Amino acid sequence: MNVDYLIIGGGISGRLLQMELMDRGYSTLVYDKWNENQSTRVAAGLVNPVVGKYFTVGWRSDQYFPSLANYYQRLETRLKSSFFSSRPMKRIIANAGEQNRWLSKAHLDKYNNFCSFSHDQIPGLNTSFGILNIYLAGEMDTKAFLKACNTMLPTESDSFDYSKLDTDQKKYQNFSYDKIVFCEGYEAVKNPYLNDYVKIIPTKGEIIEIRAKGIPEDTIYLGPVFIQFMGDDLWRVGATYEQNQTSLEPTTAMKEELESRLRKLINVPYELVNHYCGIRPASPDRKPILGMHPAIDSMYFVNGMGSKAISMAPLLVQEMTDYMEQGIPLPTEVDIKRFC
Ligand SMILES: Cc1cc2nc3c(=O)[nH]c(=O)nc-3n(C[C@H](O)[C@H](O)[C@H](O)COP(=O)(O)OP(=O)(O)OC[C@H]3O[C@@H](n4cnc5c(N)ncnc54)[C@H](O)[C@@H]3O)c2cc1C
Repeated sequence: MNVDYLIIGGGISGRLLQMELMDRGYSTLVYDKWNENQSTRVAAGLVNPVVGKYFTVGWRSDQYFPSLANYYQRLETRLKSSFFSSRPMKRIIANAGEQNRWLSKAHLDKYNNFCSFSHDQIPGLNTSFGILNIYLAGEMDTKAFLKACNTMLPTESDSFDYSKLDTDQKKYQNFSYDKIVFCEGYEAVKNPYLNDYVKIIPTKGEIIEIRAKGIPEDTIYLGPVFIQFMGDDLWRVGATYEQNQTSLEPTTAMKEELESRLRKLINVPYELVNHYCGIRPASPDRKPILGMHPAIDSMYFVNGMGSKAISMAPLLVQEMTDYMEQGIPLPTEVDIKRFC
């Protein structure tokens, strides 16, 4: 069988790329092995344009966010599924220091489209220092997204063996291809074609799920942790960050850290019901890694999405397709050439 594009990895990077290519008329096949801890499967799926201690409007947020809800609605129609919701997000200001930090920046024009401050009280949460209401936020049910992709898109549910790839003949087992794109998430640490140039940094994240009542359920809350309503009094709470960690076991230390941070945010009792982890694919300079192999012109990479794949990948896979098919240069910040 011959395909235009053989894609290795069926997380959000590989799947969004696959659909972009199919939309432009190319034949594709995704190789993906089941992985319970797959980053996309474990992800909270949040999209948030204002991040971090210093209220940073994230890199390229003005390009990523305004079209995001429309983009995912179109995919929902295409995949006959429902997995993306625009949802209010409220960042709970933790203390007077954080409030001052916000007030010193609040006048800046860059925040106009993304957030505003208010003094609302929210039952169940410690809101005495105010709230930053974040617009253009939302969440993806990543399991529903993956399930729809696995059902609707050309897929080979198998492990890809690098030693069986013939890059001269452009063949892998029974398949011949025009181009091959590696999108293996953190498991690209095993990819011999990538590792000479750049090393993906596996960044472990742990999440707990709790049962709690008395907190309004229509909003995602951010504080020392995020809390995200999942139905039936269940809330997802996360997440931790540990670089160069590839153990797929959640740990007591991280559970305790999450619970300690959670108790600063909420003031209602809760019951712990679940605890799990996944590994994010981060890059050395915290920007995605896209582009062509320096010596093999039929080979490409899409990786390094870190903790923001849901918001960044839609635009990046469009730019990647423009690059592969029309030779339009990638933004220099994401081009793998910066490491080669
Ligand atoms: C705890 C946690 C919370 C997160 N929360 C968010 C969030 O709220 N918002 C957000 O935007 N991002 C979040 N992320 C990050 C997000 O999950 C990742 O950026 C994103 O999932 C990366 O997608 P990917 O497709 O590049 O990689 P992955 O999702 O890891 O997919 C790679 C796929 O390739 C497959 N694969 C690898 N090697 C092979 C091989 N040899 N053969 C066949 N298949 C192979 C794997 O099995 C896997 O299915 C979170 C991550 C974690 C861990």
